[in-house]
Amino acid sequence: MLACVPAPMKSPQVLVIGGGIAGLCAAISARRAGARVLLIESAPRWRRGGNSRHGRNFRFFHDQPSALVAGSYPADEFAADLTRATDGNGDAALACVLINRSRAAPRWLLEAGVALQARARGQLPFSRKTAFLLGGGQAMVNALYARAERLGVDIRYECAASKPRLQGNRLTGIDLRSPCQPGVPGEMAGETPGETLAPGAVVLACGGAQGNADWLRQHCGERAEGFINRGTPEARGELLIDLLAKGAQAVGDPRRLYLVAVDARSPVDDGGIVTRIRGMPLGLVVDGDGRRRHDEGADQGSTRYALWGQRLADYPGQIGYLLLDAEGLKAAPAALYPPLSAPDLPRLARLLGMDADALETTWLTYNAAMRAFPASHSPPLDPPRTQPARPLATSPFAAYPMRPGLTFTYHGLAVDTQARVRLASGEPIINLFAAGTLMAPNLCPQGYLSGLMLTIGLVFGCLAGEEAARHVRN
Ligand SMILES: Cc1cc2nc3c(=O)[nH]c(=O)nc-3n(C[C@H](O)[C@H](O)[C@H](O)COP(=O)(O)OP(=O)(O)OC[C@H]3O[C@@H](n4cnc5c(N)ncnc54)[C@H](O)[C@@H]3O)c2cc1C
Repeated sequence: MLACVPAPMKSPQVLVIGGGIAGLCAAISARRAGARVLLIESAPRWRRGGNSRHGRNFRFFHDQPSALVAGSYPADEFAADLTRATDGNGDAALACVLINRSRAAPRWLLEAGVALQARARGQLPFSRKTAFLLGGGQAMVNALYARAERLGVDIRYECAASKPRLQGNRLTGIDLRSPCQPGVPGEMAGETPGETLAPGAVVLACGGAQGNADWLRQHCGERAEGFINRGTPEARGELLIDLLAKGAQAVGDPRRLYLVAVDARSPVDDGGIVTRIRGMPLGLVVDGDGRRRHDEGADQGSTRYALWGQRLADYPGQIGYLLLDAEGLKAAPAALYPPLSAPDLPRLARLLGMDADALETTWLTYNAAMRAFPASHSPPLDPPRTQPARPLATSPFAAYPMRPGLTFTYHGLAVDTQARVRLASGEPIINLFAAGTLMAPNLCPQGYLSGLMLTIGLVFGCLAGEEAARHVRN
């Protein structure tokens, strides 16, 4: 057993809590503005980078096509997209900041050493509104850590912040704790006695609460036990919960979650993007009792897996099955796990632990409706099927078990246009800033646009870092 040796005492001017895109952008920006910066990341080095490791594209406004994107994406179109996606419930002043500053996002990333995907390479889906990270979020995170280190940002892994102290409109202290033995979980190895810091400014960039099972159960009830966390288990929301209890202003709704359909065999945390299931329009979706509950053809757009995530959350046991025949399977998007398959329906039902008669009844009714499908009429199905599909007739038959996969939470801290955390009175806490998922519900309290969250992380990370550095300078 190693002795408990506390990490050397630091005297940072700016403490950045969390090492995903928001924290890294904040640390780099504060350091470039001349501040002494300590970035702490609760994960060990090998798992650094939070949910940002899983991202792949970001949204930005641009007036003309470039090596990264085809066509233009004017600021007012970005604003209109955001308003539509959120039903106009986001903060308009913050949306202006986001959109105006998003223009510089590609250049900022390239200058920080992040590689972006040239669209001419044609390896990723066409997008006029978003650019893709070459090597995905993991490559981006690695490049940003390297840049932060080179700039002289002090980085501590396996170091978590807790117990922020507020006095009036000022943060006066915060505790840091680390395990005695790096790499061994705190509860097994014990923790260092801990230290209290009182930096000039603090940037909170520690994500949401999606990895906190108790918090999810408290707000979403028992059904939360059927959810799978697609992102980091480090997102426990400790500081969010604590600050709200101490008088910070909340935004969003803790019961609202961004869920997508994922393979039910995915790991409980960190499955990432590859666990998504997307072939619903090609087949038949049933619950665990073999019953259809939704129209598989209604949503053909690229966000259909997100709509299915919400639906699966309301299925009994939060489990559903996408059923395909051999032809549907050939057309279905690639999936991480092989489908469960059987030469006939009774054997497939057995494999799924489902009542074979119930499944057969659903299957026969569905196929009869698809065979009778006239071009201009909905088939006589309840629920209906609004788009034509082939009957599922070719053996072998296959199933993907699906659960709701949690991507992020819509509950956070209210901030002003300088990224300062607000008190319930509306007054800002002058030396406490927030960026990324933790404040994203100010802009996006519901709905979603592809590539929005990385942009929020980058834009408000940079802003919070600059403002924190300005605060300690003055
Ligand atoms: C599978 C998946 C795919 C996604 N794809 C995209 C995409 O393509 N485009 C897009 O825009 N968005 C995408 N998102 C969302 C996006 O990745 C995140 O919203 C964004 O990266 C969040 O950045 P962040 O810096 O706020 O948080 P994170 O990247 O989660 O970083 C927070 C960090 O804080 C650390 N931390 C937590 N608590 C503490 C504490 N108390 N003390 C110290 N450190 C702490 C965590 O370890 C973590 O590293 C995806 C998300 C997932 C899960």
